[in-house]
Amino acid sequence: MLFDLTGKTALVTGASGGLGQAMAIGLAEAGARIVAVSSSNCDATVAAVREIGGTIGQISADLSKIEGLEGVFAEALAMFGAVDVLVNNAGTIRRAPAADHAAKDWYDVIDLNLNSVFFLSQLAGRHMIERGSGKIISIASMLSYQGGINVPGYTASKHAVAGITKALANEWASKGIQVNAIAPGYMTTNNTAPIVADQARYQSITDRIPAGRWGSPDDMKGPVVFLASSASDYMNGHVLCVDGGWLAR
Ligand code: NAD
Repeated sequence: MLFDLTGKTALVTGASGGLGQAMAIGLAEAGARIVAVSSSNCDATVAAVREIGGTIGQISADLSKIEGLEGVFAEALAMFGAVDVLVNNAGTIRRAPAADHAAKDWYDVIDLNLNSVFFLSQLAGRHMIERGSGKIISIASMLSYQGGINVPGYTASKHAVAGITKALANEWASKGIQVNAIAPGYMTTNNTAPIVADQARYQSITDRIPAGRWGSPDDMKGPVVFLASSASDYMNGHVLCVDGGWLAR
């Protein structure tokens, strides 16, 4: 019962594939209605959720355009009447050495990975404060802790995600809202396809993971259900690492 999400609505961004799709399906398996938001279509996620008897709607939006977020949130509210859980998952990465990092690459990453996370959380937070409850879960990264190489904008954005998770938790914990984050380790998705394609790099990363394997999107299901459910009601401002032990090493 602690993990039951029946009657709850979860808005999941970037739910067309990868980690967002798996988390949307996991939340639906726990009983939540899903609002899947993405710039690419979420048809596969919609089909997967309906196949298990779940309820889901989708919204197409480029979340890096901050001026559109209010409309997106209003559309989500109109769909099922409330948003109990917000999962800020949509993210992007640009790989180029710092000395050559183009301004556009920097801003594209910051607009989506940071600015949309803050402003969507703000919209959800206002709604949840009124209702006296809610869960906000943002997807951080190992690069919320480490510097990475050739991804300065991504690293900056993911350190910031960890920071605003704590900042929002401090303000909203007393209002019945739990704000937390999940920091995935190396997971096989589109996002990491270029690393997987580099056999030497892929192997050296795998060798360093205590679990001895990369994560799969399904490894995100349990942690996101936990943070979306009443099982985590006394957790605030925490960044939960789902990394096969990467950071423990
Ligand atoms: P992915 O590329 O497979 O999926 C990204 C999702 O975000 C897709 O649904 C895509 O359509 C959506 N998206 C991209 N740009 C968008 C925009 N402008 N507006 C709306 N939606 C947009 O990536 P993923 O690996 O599943 O990553 C999901 C999250 O997890 C990201 O925040 C990423 O930084 C984070 N993450 C991934 C890994 C990993 O190993 N894959 C590790 C740590 C953190």
